[in-house]
Amino acid sequence: MRKLELHWQILIGMVLGIVFGFIMTGVSGGDEFVGDWINPIGTIFVKMLKLIAIPLILASLIKGISDLKDISKFRNIGLRTMVTYIATTVVAITIGLMLVNVLQPGEGISEETITTLTETYAQDSGVQSKIQEAGRQKSSGPLQFLVDMVPDNAFNAFSNNGLMLQVIFFTILFAIAMLLIGEERAKPLKRFFDSLNYVVLKMVDLIMLIAPYAVFALLANVVVNSGDPDLLLALLKYAGVVVLGLSLMVVFYLIIVGTYVKKNPFWFLKQISPAQLLAFSTSSSAATLPVTMERVEEHIGVDKEVSSFVLPVGATINMDGTSLYQGVAAVFISQALGFDLSFSDQLTIVLTALLASIGSAAVPGAGMVMLVIVLESIGFPADKLAIGLALIFAVDRPLDMCRTVINVTGDATVSMMVAKSVGKLGKPRVEDWDDHYDEVK
Ligand code: ASP
Repeated sequence: MRKLELHWQILIGMVLGIVFGFIMTGVSGGDEFVGDWINPIGTIFVKMLKLIAIPLILASLIKGISDLKDISKFRNIGLRTMVTYIATTVVAITIGLMLVNVLQPGEGISEETITTLTETYAQDSGVQSKIQEAGRQKSSGPLQFLVDMVPDNAFNAFSNNGLMLQVIFFTILFAIAMLLIGEERAKPLKRFFDSLNYVVLKMVDLIMLIAPYAVFALLANVVVNSGDPDLLLALLKYAGVVVLGLSLMVVFYLIIVGTYVKKNPFWFLKQISPAQLLAFSTSSSAATLPVTMERVEEHIGVDKEVSSFVLPVGATINMDGTSLYQGVAAVFISQALGFDLSFSDQLTIVLTALLASIGSAAVPGAGMVMLVIVLESIGFPADKLAIGLALIFAVDRPLDMCRTVINVTGDATVSMMVAKSVGKLGKPRVEDWDDHYDEVK
């Protein structure tokens, strides 16, 4: 019997997880059962993906850069990547702002709903912790992010998943130095990292064996922890605007893939779909990164020289879905609470949402922390911040899942664009997970 393709396996796992979650919400003690006995499978899976993120970045970036043979090529790729990332993010924010201004989801929301949402969530530890976290991040100067990018201790950087940009910084410096010492001297290191790279990619394959079960667990857990259905319904219009905006972003990517990259957009979707499904299930671009890299390199055919740089950097700084959401959410909250926004306020939102998406960590719920900073930038009263966040908190998790899909799809699209522009988009070279499995068994 032919094995079901991975994306179908994952999709079936997700659907069954949602159904199971709904069944368990109706059973007494069901949510505890899911939390105690089902959720750990999902948590283990996410931990395993994160576990290989840093070795993968290290091995693949060193391989990518040292294969280039010429540093000016790297500069070229770097520049194109940054410009394209900024451009796609600005498109995303603009789409979000246009939709929220035209459809005005905040106008229709009743006083009663606002009161209920405020009473339910304003003092919630989730909302309060986002505000505190934002306060911590804001108190630094404008160039602090550059300072933060440079590690003062390599081992410290490698031991913290939150310091991905520091790892990338060290690795790029290391790989450039490897290029500069000449091929002969660099040979042992190159062979070592090439081999490490194969091993880590194989680890991705092995971890993916449990993906269908893990997404079942993750989604069942999301369902049993979701809020009151009535409150979710009250926010349907707001959530609808975000989802509509995110869908338009997908259309935008597909048009780019069809016209500029000159690949079949549906083929692209099919190849990248396992990464998208994982992004949806885990709400974390960082946890999805190993799978995104594997899909883009092996199944789409982007050269490692491009993907090894574009994707890890993208996972940390390019968040089109998050910035679109921040634009919509900031205006929605202002509409609902009767806070007038001028045109220049909206321009400020474009700028701060762009910076905020760069500064957001690639983990669940990070977008909401930076939303606080976006709101403050337009002069939103500090004493109303908790109420503002309370308005959107109930639907944040499902929207986080959707925006993470867009974040990952955006990174993959940009990697194809950059690869195409420098002639590094080749043929897919799929390596089956079970290449040597029989021999080992
Ligand atoms: N969860 C998102 C990501 O990892 C970030 C966010 O929007 O909260 O890409």
